[in-house]
Amino acid sequence: MNIVKELKPTYFDDFKCIGSECEDTCCAGWNIGIDKKSFKKYRKETNPNLKSLLQKNVSRNRQATSDYHYGQFKMDDQDKCSMLNEENLCTIQLTSGEEALCHTCTIYPRSAKSINDSIEKSLDTSCPEAARLILLNPNGIDFVEVEPELPKYNFAQHRQSDEQNQYFWANRMFMISALQHRVHPLEVRLIVIGLYVKKLEELEPAERFVQAQTLSSQYLAYLDDANITDLTTQIKPNYDFQKALTLFFLKDFSARSSRFNQLASCTFDEVNFGDSTESFAQSLLNYKTQYDQSELLQIALENYLVNLTFAEYNESKEDIISFYTLLITNFSLIRLLFIGNGHKFSYTNEEIVATIQIFSKSCLHNTTYINNVKKIISTKQYSQTSQTINLINI
Ligand code: SF4
Repeated sequence: MNIVKELKPTYFDDFKCIGSECEDTCCAGWNIGIDKKSFKKYRKETNPNLKSLLQKNVSRNRQATSDYHYGQFKMDDQDKCSMLNEENLCTIQLTSGEEALCHTCTIYPRSAKSINDSIEKSLDTSCPEAARLILLNPNGIDFVEVEPELPKYNFAQHRQSDEQNQYFWANRMFMISALQHRVHPLEVRLIVIGLYVKKLEELEPAERFVQAQTLSSQYLAYLDDANITDLTTQIKPNYDFQKALTLFFLKDFSARSSRFNQLASCTFDEVNFGDSTESFAQSLLNYKTQYDQSELLQIALENYLVNLTFAEYNESKEDIISFYTLLITNFSLIRLLFIGNGHKFSYTNEEIVATIQIFSKSCLHNTTYINNVKKIISTKQYSQTSQTINLINI
């Protein structure tokens, strides 16, 4: 496919890795996947400064679902990449230059994918410096279309039929416009998106393609109605379901990051999981006002969701119903971490960036998190979207 345009958020070109000043590092705390081409190159390495190190520290990843994770680096007992030297510098880069880095280490935290004739670039909130650019923009994320500049590295290529592509554009434009519709609280905007997705879910797949454009204009217009807030607050929260998800997230899911585990354990101590649903609900509500009143946090969450929608949703990878589930689950669990740490937080820029960054690093690249969330969502009898909407109001 001939790539004729490039679409990216305006923050994209401002990113620069801050190296040793970074409060985290992308070389620790998770698995670093090695693409197949680099893996084979590393296996044939002849440079004596690298050969034995690579032989010892590079292994095949038999669980990989794509060639981008064909192999992986061994992590040391501090969960740091074993290719780092004593000054925490990368031995591969020092010995053979940037060109010798694998795909993950070359692009992170950037990501690029093509959808039909367009290449799309974005940044990932798991990097603190990228998270600052994404989350702290008070005016919301804006996008630009420019002449395409193809990356030197491989990028994922998605192909959608014309019909599927129109449907995807209608859905994504609608979700981003609704998320940025600041007249209403974020929860209201998310419910209106949910009602739109539910409407699509009720239609036969072929009919969804036909109706998406008209429906998206209609649901966007609902956000211009001042009464929509009253209507959406009538959607009662399902606390039993929220409790099941919260328990998994805080108790059974253990991340590799001690920073994440501290936030989760503090939240666990604050949330009352006693027998009654009322006590569980009340403990969530205790810090809700403080959370609602933080304008910085509300903007950061909007920017987080807009970025996720732009970077992660496309119909050839995941349909809108599954994507909406991911969007809302992430939102409700990030909100839970802020509410659970509300007695300690003043909701400063630093706390907001650090919390969303460590959530992204610990959860969004973790298949245990993703698979369990999907399992919990699909255990009830309602439709997936109705089930998901139940997570929004508290
Ligand atoms: S996490 Fe981001 S800022 Fe930190 S070292 Fe990695 S790329 Fe640089």
